[in-house]
Amino acid sequence: MKALLRKGFSSRRLNKLSGSVAQLVERTTENREVTGSTPVGATETPETIAVSGFSFNGIFQPLEVVIPDMTTTRSLIAPATSANFETAEMPLRPLGPKSVKIKIAYSGICHSDIHQVRGEWSAGNFPMVPGHEIAGHIVEVGSDVTKFKVGDRAGVGVFVDSCRECENCKNGFENQCLNGSVGTYNSRHKDGTISYGGYAHELVVDEHFALHIPEGLDMAAAAPLLCAGITVYSPLKRWNVGPGKKVAILGLGGLGHLAVKIAVALGADVTVLGHSLAKKDDALNFGAHDYRSTEDAFANLKGSFDMILNTTSADLNVDGLLSLLRMHGALVNVGLPGNSQSYNPFSIIGGGKSIAGSNTGGIPETQQMLDFCAEHGIVATIELLDASNPSTIDAAYDRVVASDVRYRFVIDAATI
Ligand SMILES: [Zn+2]
Ligand SMILES: [Zn+2]
Repeated sequence: MKALLRKGFSSRRLNKLSGSVAQLVERTTENREVTGSTPVGATETPETIAVSGFSFNGIFQPLEVVIPDMTTTRSLIAPATSANFETAEMPLRPLGPKSVKIKIAYSGICHSDIHQVRGEWSAGNFPMVPGHEIAGHIVEVGSDVTKFKVGDRAGVGVFVDSCRECENCKNGFENQCLNGSVGTYNSRHKDGTISYGGYAHELVVDEHFALHIPEGLDMAAAAPLLCAGITVYSPLKRWNVGPGKKVAILGLGGLGHLAVKIAVALGADVTVLGHSLAKKDDALNFGAHDYRSTEDAFANLKGSFDMILNTTSADLNVDGLLSLLRMHGALVNVGLPGNSQSYNPFSIIGGGKSIAGSNTGGIPETQQMLDFCAEHGIVATIELLDASNPSTIDAAYDRVVASDVRYRFVIDAATI
């Protein structure tokens, strides 16, 4: 508040701004009038506050108050639902004693970014800075940080905070926090501010939620491991995929191609199931032992697999897939079909089969996954994007939706 007072605001006027800073932030981030390079939203440290606009009695009140040393970071923003990307300066969280500042080198494009920018899951918080496949270097550490030092390679995945007190958090499954984890973007921090993700130059995050990216992994190609990689690694491990096990990977996209590489490295016999044979050569190059169309599989591969990992968001022939499982086999979903999926209970009773799901992984398992990938030389197969023209991201989104990416887009953050 002192900074605002220095700018000539009376304390009475400031009091009329009313409410907590968190509320102020919420209001300002809801403003659509703020565009261009003006910082959107507000941040406060004990000494400074920067406000680009606020809503008072329901009326937008632009304020020409921008503190010169306000910490912002250049970002790619979706200004509104389905709007084209722009570049803008966005607030950066203040560095707390336990937090680290990461200079982002690369940020992967996950299909869930597209769902959220396009408002397909919920209304969303705009302007939105998507991105939860983040790889970069530590450039600043808080006074109590022990896990990282300046210069370390670091990554951030799908969430940046959780309650840290519930049973799941205490057991290292922050991704399944019973009180809700804080998403890396389009979510709210505990202080009420909106979280902004990895399509940016910098990110400040609590050290607990940052991962070490081992030396030897290409940074750009490692970025997608932070979401796509852990999303498939976690269920492959939980269902004990390894030597002697037969696994089918349904779909060969961003998730599927990493599932093939990881399942092969775990020692399993891996078959890719696709709706066509278009990606057969790529699948075999990734190490798959077989590639079949689903029609072929339904006709010829009944009772073959210990696990089928569904990485697609297509509606499924659930009974048909269950028929491909061996006794005690599992159909595990990490893709999210848009519609409810039905099945005949007879399909699981015979053979004692399971239908299950999985959602990313906790911090300990994500680190384990990164170390495993470094040990086995596994990274994503990527197309690197120059984001100096933000419309590149819009075009990339269209290509992801059309399944026309080999196999993950990664933004070169230096071009933002
Ligand atoms: Zn993701
Ligand atoms: Zn929790």
